[in-house]
Amino acid sequence: MVKVIFALYQKKISMKNISVIGAGTMGNGIAHVFAQAGFTVNLIDVNATQLERALNTISKNLDRQVAKGSLTEEQKKQTLTNLTTNTSLAEGVANADLVVEAATENVELKLKIFKQIDEFAPKHCILASNTSSISITKIAAATNRANAVIGMHFMNPVPVMKLVEIINGYATDKTVTDTIVGLSKQLGKVPCVVNDYPGFIANKILMPMINEAIYSLYEGIAGVEEIDTIMKLGMAHPMGPLQLADFIGLDVCLSILNVLYQGYGNTKYAPCPLLVNMVTAGKLGVKSGEGFYIHTAGSKELIVSSQFK
Ligand code: NAD
Repeated sequence: MVKVIFALYQKKISMKNISVIGAGTMGNGIAHVFAQAGFTVNLIDVNATQLERALNTISKNLDRQVAKGSLTEEQKKQTLTNLTTNTSLAEGVANADLVVEAATENVELKLKIFKQIDEFAPKHCILASNTSSISITKIAAATNRANAVIGMHFMNPVPVMKLVEIINGYATDKTVTDTIVGLSKQLGKVPCVVNDYPGFIANKILMPMINEAIYSLYEGIAGVEEIDTIMKLGMAHPMGPLQLADFIGLDVCLSILNVLYQGYGNTKYAPCPLLVNMVTAGKLGVKSGEGFYIHTAGSKELIVSSQFK
């Protein structure tokens, strides 16, 4: 059986139907770029309201592209025509050539979803996950087609960010990697292939920097503004590490640091106690309205508290 499936992946896989699972921050962006590139996209979520919200977001983002002149009104219409939505996973993946999973970052949930996709998607279908930190090898082991499971890690906001970090699981077949590299280029993205170890590359390097910034604040070496200004103006980063942490979500940063800490067993990844405290207190950054900054619609201001001076 494994040999038969393996043989299928020796052929160049042509892609037409893409199913995206999860219509949140990332899922709507992923559906947008595939639909804009001419693929037929089925966006799936357990939550119908989330699907409506995602279609609205995509439509607004397309309007912005039209206003900037990077898309015509006709292309916008065609992009929306390429999109359908579904609350049933079984129905939504039935004709898929590729499934990109972008559901909530939770190991048990992802293992359950991949078991279901494996059951309902056609045998030739490639299964990709947009996970930021969960092992692709572990996700693949929940299926009967580990050689066709791969990481396709888009960056936020998906329509704007060029990079796709492609993660080879332990068993990922080379033809599958080549197909996903080619497909990413078709989307106008720049693919980079890496191996499946905790945090992959993007977060293995980014998260220790964010953690070090939080440690610097916690140890009283400098305030929020100083830390972010030094990294912005001194290192030409578009935003400081504390502002970026607020944007990513402090809960997400904490969970990725824990994956790195447990995965490598190295204390250099141990999350700063201040980060743990803030997440426990529900200060999650932009999504909760407060983190290292206070966030109100479209703007941010520095928190003035003795802890952060
Ligand atoms: P989100 O919370 O905005 O959206 C998750 C969506 O998944 C929700 O709409 C939820 O209803 C849906 N969902 C939950 N269970 C489901 C199920 N069983 N079937 C279908 N849909 C289900 O999350 P997000 O920020 O878009 O993150 C999604 C994935 O992308 C995560 O794995 C995350 O690590 C990864 N990621 C996030 C970012 C980021 O900046 N937010 C960047 C790169 C990668």
